Amino acid sequence: METIPVMKPWLGDEEAEAAAAAVRSGWVAQGPRVGHFETEFAESVGASHAVAVSSCTTALHLGLVVAGIGPGDEVVVPSLSFVATTNVVRYVGATPVFADVDVRTANLTQDTIAPVITDRTRAIILVHQGGMPADLAGVRSLVAGRDILILEDAACAAGSRADNHPVGSGSDLAAWSFHPRKLLTTGEGGMVTLERADWAARLRRLREHGMDVSAADRHAQGNKVILEKYLEVGFNYRMTDVQAAIGIVQLRKLPQMVDRRREIVQQYREALDGLAGLTTVVEADNLRANYQSFWVKLDERWPLSRNETLERLAAQGIQARRGIMAAHLEPAYAEFGDADLPATVDLTNNSLILPVFHQMTADQIERVIRTVRSLGATG
Ligand SMILES: *Cc1c(COP(=O)(O)O)cnc(C)c1O
Repeated sequence: METIPVMKPWLGDEEAEAAAAAVRSGWVAQGPRVGHFETEFAESVGASHAVAVSSCTTALHLGLVVAGIGPGDEVVVPSLSFVATTNVVRYVGATPVFADVDVRTANLTQDTIAPVITDRTRAIILVHQGGMPADLAGVRSLVAGRDILILEDAACAAGSRADNHPVGSGSDLAAWSFHPRKLLTTGEGGMVTLERADWAARLRRLREHGMDVSAADRHAQGNKVILEKYLEVGFNYRMTDVQAAIGIVQLRKLPQMVDRRREIVQQYREALDGLAGLTTVVEADNLRANYQSFWVKLDERWPLSRNETLERLAAQGIQARRGIMAAHLEPAYAEFGDADLPATVDLTNNSLILPVFHQMTADQIERVIRTVRSLGATG
């Protein structure tokens, strides 16, 4: 029996050729292809600036650094997210404050954030979980007039849209991931998009050891002697030109990836919505998610536990995955273990992610549907 993976990147000869061309050019570190990828990415999400980095984790970290968040500051985050969302708050010495999520979307909302805002809140990391756009307008209205930054964790959301605009359009600060578990991939890789030119210039320095002139720019000056300065303590968070070459090709394929994923999800919804004990992630009418993750939640009417369901699916060669993790339940954040986050706990314990990938065949989709339906009818 052939195994159906939960996700598979959509890579082909075009990406292989683009990577090979970067290698043949002799310039493999951050260089012209990174610049080209940044320009195209900024345009595709409707941002004034894009700064490529090594991952979304490093993008989030630099986002907090450039905004001046540090010790004594509180940063509101969802516990229900990949752990990097919380870890970056620790990187800058600030204090993570967990807010619960809306159980229908797995996203923070102004209503879940409001109760945890204090005088020390300096930022909110708003995750577009699984590619489902969070209500940015609502959260903006909550913090209007206050010195609270909204840093969007758009790791999963490349290609998602809200109110007919791409996620990221006009964002103060958004961080993106190009890990293969997302849609557009460069192996590892990330991006910061933003509006402020001064912050963009500082981010370019911070990703490259705090240097006032990039290695690529120095190289482009030929024989002229340029002595770089190190203006502040920076990092090595650069993307390579080999990664950017792949990213440029992937970005052109992104609209097709989103369309295909939405077709698959539509079939899942038609077949699974209405099954007793199972609900699917809710997409409001003004949204067009990329469905980086399509999750379903089980309740007490479902005949099997979530883990039993995962095991039965695995036995049938279907690689579903547990739902999104909850950072506050992990040993690294044990001090928050009894935080009152009911929707987060319900989702992390009772949801699971079904396989969705570009190359999925009609037979594979049908097999997933048939198997899930049959599990719902057991017991
Ligand atoms: C994947 C993911 C990250 C981390 O992205 P990397 O590029 O692997 O560092 C951060 N936040 C969320 C919500 C993610 O899904």
